[in-house]
Amino acid sequence: MTDMTFDGRAFINGERVAARDGRTFDCISPVDGRLLTPVARCGETDIDAAVAAGRAAFEDRRWRGMSPAQRKRVMIRFADELLAHADELALTETLDMGKPVKYARSVDVNSAANCIRWYGEAVDKVYDEIAPTASNALALITREPVGVVGVIVPWNYPMIMAAWKIAPALAAGNSVVLKPSEKSPLTALRLAELALAAGIPPGVFNVVPGYGPEAGSPLALHMDVDCIAFTGSTRVGKQIHVMAGQSNLKRAWTELGGKSPNIVFADCPNLDRAVEAAVGSIFFNQGESCNAPSRLFVEASIKDAFLEKALALVPRYQPANPLDASTVMGAIVDQVQLDNVLRYIESGKNEGARLLAGGSQALPDSGGCYVQPTIFDGVTNQMTIAREEIFGPVLSVLSFTDAADVVRQANQSIYGLQAGVWTSDINQAHGVARALRVGTVHVNQYDEDDITVPFGGFKQSGVGRDKSLHAFDKYTEVKTTWIRIDSPV
Ligand code: NAD
Repeated sequence: MTDMTFDGRAFINGERVAARDGRTFDCISPVDGRLLTPVARCGETDIDAAVAAGRAAFEDRRWRGMSPAQRKRVMIRFADELLAHADELALTETLDMGKPVKYARSVDVNSAANCIRWYGEAVDKVYDEIAPTASNALALITREPVGVVGVIVPWNYPMIMAAWKIAPALAAGNSVVLKPSEKSPLTALRLAELALAAGIPPGVFNVVPGYGPEAGSPLALHMDVDCIAFTGSTRVGKQIHVMAGQSNLKRAWTELGGKSPNIVFADCPNLDRAVEAAVGSIFFNQGESCNAPSRLFVEASIKDAFLEKALALVPRYQPANPLDASTVMGAIVDQVQLDNVLRYIESGKNEGARLLAGGSQALPDSGGCYVQPTIFDGVTNQMTIAREEIFGPVLSVLSFTDAADVVRQANQSIYGLQAGVWTSDINQAHGVARALRVGTVHVNQYDEDDITVPFGGFKQSGVGRDKSLHAFDKYTEVKTTWIRIDSPV
């Protein structure tokens, strides 16, 4: 199965095409360093072509002109296409970005398909409004698709991150131009083919692979793109808002980084479950999750007991070949990211944190990019490993004395994506949850996730929310239509 071949060409106006200037970049697998395929290295003229295709489709109403019920049927077929190609998509994701194939299949494919189905199902059940105005007029408040939506996504969950944006954008009747990460472009290209097969008309969904400054920036700066939806780093997210303002004031939505605190009080109702969640959530997806609970705050009186249990779990997460069905931690996405993670580990050692587990590269003879699951104790909020997002399997352990102390420390971050709170005291749970400046708080668990709930952050974790019906707000404009009524009665 791993001798499968890939088509790295762009997908514009319903067709596979090379970049206009013929340039490509190599798509290398982090599993073992093999070349998977050359991929179209799109630039400004390719972005122009994709946006023009999207605009033409929007103007002639070939998609938005369908009734919501018709779009629903097509979106559901699109989700079914993903499931029909689940094994191929999962294997592609694993080879492209290194995550264990069992999770690529059970989490990534299923979650992306579920997201597409859910927005398809939703679109003929959302009503517009009539305002409670005086009786001599009728004020209709309606939602209209915003137009051509540019989508830029990262490499950690390539299909899921794309689905969170393209599903509500397409369901609402928009055209989409998607730029996947240059580190993981392959499944996005297949999604576009599957969308076409499901009945999404040519030009409505286009995919333009390439590097950020060459393909992402022209999309964010484009004068004919109405909205840009971005997931990625805070550094680039800030540039996206600048580019939106520099060009046509397109709507800009950003889902950015995190440094999420996970707070365990001494009255935690189930210490074993808290340990499993703390360790499992930071090591899942090789630590390459924006909401990974990378700062673990344990109340001082139980810290030693907690760490003993945590260290006993570490062997379970030793990295191995992600194509092996029993592997739970796979490869880091590429050599650049592996070097970043190793640099952060060195900074933890140099700034005085105590290395309890891991701390080195793993499987050096594999040809791939692997790192040991790593735990530091004695971390303070001032250390680089507690302030900056590492995006690797590195857990920083801090301690605290009481609720006020931990809320202050937890909020001491530029980020505000998620947090965990473990306590048996309902007042403490609610009080701390309210005081945390984050988009999502997990109480006595850290793994609940559902398409029905919003996902996004406070502060520099971004602007706007993915998932749930709230996501439609990003891809629709609200219009008011006043109608005068000269009533004869
Ligand atoms: P990144 O910001 O480097 O890249 C993200 C995307 O932006 C890629 O497609 C890249 O090509 C593109 N890009 C880079 N420079 C650009 C530019 N100048 N103009 C336009 N586009 C440009 O991030 P990454 O390393 O791919 O992903 C990791 C980051 O994503 C982490 O910070 C992580 O927290 C974040 N993330 C956030 C969420 C969330 O929902 N909040 C989810 C997943 C990942």
